[in-house]
Amino acid sequence: MFTITPEVKFAINAVQQSAELVKTVQTETAQNALTKGDKSPVTVADFASQALVSHLLQKDFPDVVLVGEEASDALKEEGAEHLLEQVTGYVARHVPESNPDTVCELIDWGAASPAKRFWTLDPIDGTKGFIRGDQYAVALALVEDGDVKIGVLGCPNLTDGYIPEPGGAGTIILAVRGEGTWMAKMSDAETDDWQQIYASPRANPSQSRLMRSFESGHTDVSKIDEIASALGVEVDPVRMDSQAKYSVLAVGEGEVILRLLSPKMPNYQEKIWDQAAGAIVLEEAGGRISDLDGKPLDFSQGRKLINNRGVLATNGHLHEAVLKALKKVGA
Ligand code: AMP
Ligand code: MG
Repeated sequence: MFTITPEVKFAINAVQQSAELVKTVQTETAQNALTKGDKSPVTVADFASQALVSHLLQKDFPDVVLVGEEASDALKEEGAEHLLEQVTGYVARHVPESNPDTVCELIDWGAASPAKRFWTLDPIDGTKGFIRGDQYAVALALVEDGDVKIGVLGCPNLTDGYIPEPGGAGTIILAVRGEGTWMAKMSDAETDDWQQIYASPRANPSQSRLMRSFESGHTDVSKIDEIASALGVEVDPVRMDSQAKYSVLAVGEGEVILRLLSPKMPNYQEKIWDQAAGAIVLEEAGGRISDLDGKPLDFSQGRKLINNRGVLATNGHLHEAVLKALKKVGA
């Protein structure tokens, strides 16, 4: 078993509670999406999830920094009153005596800038998947001196770490540096019912299961096809939203995740909360993660991975072969 430190305990509890919260929003409300400046949809659940994690962190570790994806500006705009009211209602189920002001404060307390040691949170990774009723993840990670030390992924619509099953038991995945990657059913996370998981042993490129974004706008679909044929891949790629893909690799049910740059956004830089938890989950399961040039991901540069270009994540055995294929097709 992994060591249950106060940090590990907090991370499991925070992801479990906020995953429960977002699941409730998904079943109870019509999806009330706002449009953020970057046009990505953001829902009641994203804000409520960040406020809750922020509250739990403040309670346990009041001096520690939280770098979450959301900020309350959009909720304070004219016309958003109803949304803020809904967010407040959901947060109040976990944090009694919440009001719109305290909720905005919590969201913004959790929107700090990275420091030497900080937690980073994607309150709902794959919001588009969440809105569609497909895959999404609550992703939380502890970063120290640019190195990810703890990562937790909560995947409410993924059974046994890899089977898409909306409304099913869900999976929670935990990785601790040097102590492996572990999986439990979402509701069992408090008990000792954790199982250690490992990336796939497949080393034959023709048998590699490629995981890619469901949203074709987040990647370069035709380049992925070129890479697949350069590798001689004989199995179909799988489309899935969010860091749930890392869970699939960590349980050995997929081999390669490619985050190629979309031709529409060739200068896109990955956000740290979109990769930190997934990266350690995969590495501690025996896999490997780098950028498209084979460089390690650099989490020491603020909110974005400015020193990296795209992401390549594999079971480890196939990493060099895929890097070679990327070069060959000029990706
Ligand atoms: P996925 O479901 O794997 O596509 O990942 C979802 C994440 O992709 C979201 O959290 C967004 O932050 C991120 N994203 C949004 N636009 C882009 C883009 N053009 N290229 C790559 N990632 C993006
Ligand atoms: Mg995200």
